[in-house]
Amino acid sequence: MASEATAEKFRALTPSEFFYRNRELAGFSNPARALYQAVRELVENALDATDPHGIHPTIKVILQKVSAERDNVFSISVEDNGIGIPAAQVPRAFGQLLYSSKYVLRQTRGMFGLGAKMAVLYGQMTTGKSVEVLTSTITAKNIYYFNIAIDVKTNTPIIHEKGVYRKNNGWHGTVVKLYLEGDWTRSKSKIYEYLKRTAIIAPYAEIVFEDPEGTITYFERSTRKMPPPPREVKPHPKGVDIEMMKMMLKATKAKTLLEFLIKEFQSIGEVTARRLIENAGLLPDMKPHELSTEDVERLVRVIKSDTKIKPPSANHLSYVGEEIIKVGLKAILKPEFVTAVTRKPSVYEGHAFIVEAGLAYGGEIQPEDRPVLYRYANKIPLLYDEGADVARKVVDRIDWSHYGVTFPAPLVILVHICSTKVPYKGVGKESVADVPEVEHEIELAIREVARRLKRYLSKKKREREEAERAVAIAKYIPDVARGLAKIVNNVKEEMIEKELLKMLNMKLKSFKINSVSDVVVSIE
Ligand code: ADP
Ligand code: MG
Repeated sequence: MASEATAEKFRALTPSEFFYRNRELAGFSNPARALYQAVRELVENALDATDPHGIHPTIKVILQKVSAERDNVFSISVEDNGIGIPAAQVPRAFGQLLYSSKYVLRQTRGMFGLGAKMAVLYGQMTTGKSVEVLTSTITAKNIYYFNIAIDVKTNTPIIHEKGVYRKNNGWHGTVVKLYLEGDWTRSKSKIYEYLKRTAIIAPYAEIVFEDPEGTITYFERSTRKMPPPPREVKPHPKGVDIEMMKMMLKATKAKTLLEFLIKEFQSIGEVTARRLIENAGLLPDMKPHELSTEDVERLVRVIKSDTKIKPPSANHLSYVGEEIIKVGLKAILKPEFVTAVTRKPSVYEGHAFIVEAGLAYGGEIQPEDRPVLYRYANKIPLLYDEGADVARKVVDRIDWSHYGVTFPAPLVILVHICSTKVPYKGVGKESVADVPEVEHEIELAIREVARRLKRYLSKKKREREEAERAVAIAKYIPDVARGLAKIVNNVKEEMIEKELLKMLNMKLKSFKINSVSDVVVSIE
């Protein structure tokens, strides 16, 4: 017998409530991690607002302790010179979870409509304070300010304040400031490491960081060259599952199934479209919304097993490029040797991806017991879960002695994977899964840069041996000069000695030897 007292109460959670309860899913698991994650989300939004739009990023990050009494409350302010946010969008961009301008198939850093809001939500939960935003787009007449909170129960923005900050005179960009509880001592090294690795992969950016202790770090722009901007693409048929196919069929403006397949997907022309339709037992002029669930299932199955569909195009991917990777590694790590490789596009499960690898050796790099690994996905540094990442697995199984490296050695390997769908492992999005195609590409990329290091190291070794031989010979120069002077008339012994030394030193200087002074020859 059901009575009111025993009846279950059913209701749905809003996205805000869900992430409020499960904030660790988005990286906000404890005060140290939250501070790091908040910095990261705001910096990534700043980068997304700049480099894909051809703007050289200038980003200012200020982290401050709010009061002397409370050790664990911080303000974070991140300013960029990006495209800005249209005033009408600001409340939802910061006050509604799962609201984004990036829900298109394009490779950006943010893709989930979560980052900024999680920082706002966490700040609100721990300090009760709302987020302050100052922004102007390139064409806006004014710079607008907002003070926004999230209504967790309804997942809608609460606008505490909005208005015109001042008339705009050509500035564009965004300043976001929020307050949250954090643990600076325990997040300090991660935040610095994150910014350093960001500066390596984006050396065309200028980043200033002021930390809570008042220390200011400046990562200067070391190149004007920027990666090709990512472009929006149509999905590849092999990457589409039944649910997505249903959504696409519902949303399309195409009048027939044939037109739908040709228009909404990449790699499908009329011939392919007709073949797929026939193999799925459908008709070309069916209306897209007429397909039954069974029809959709059959169509997706036929697509998955078709072997003649062209692989996805990769010209929408925004890789960093060998030159920029080298500049970044050189500027930040100051190594003795640096190299980089961008692999050709490849495909896994219908998603195009590109792997890049960089290598830096020697110089100011500290020797470690194994290669230090810098991992990136879509230009985002990945700092956690390294042990679970496919790139770590590949680096560790390589026999580095084969490439002339014995540990401890000053060796840094950079691995970057870019794709509209990075195969992350787990919810944290901090490590890449061991998808065979991806693993293979990573291995080829690392072996290529490793081979270049090997060539460099063996050349260096050869030169050192030659130099040692030359130094050994040098001690006979005075004797030789004396002997020659006796034979050749009118030439002084000292002259011959000087000439011979000059020739020897010139040869020695052409070698890449760490400290030239220890091999340059002089005989008194
Ligand atoms: P995501 O980055 O995944 O889209 P966010 O919650 O981090 O989700 O941001 C939501 C939206 O707010 C973004 O899609 C973007 O349109 C806008 N936005 C946030 N920060 C900035 C910024 N600094 N400059 C321009 N637009 C921004
Ligand atoms: Mg974001």
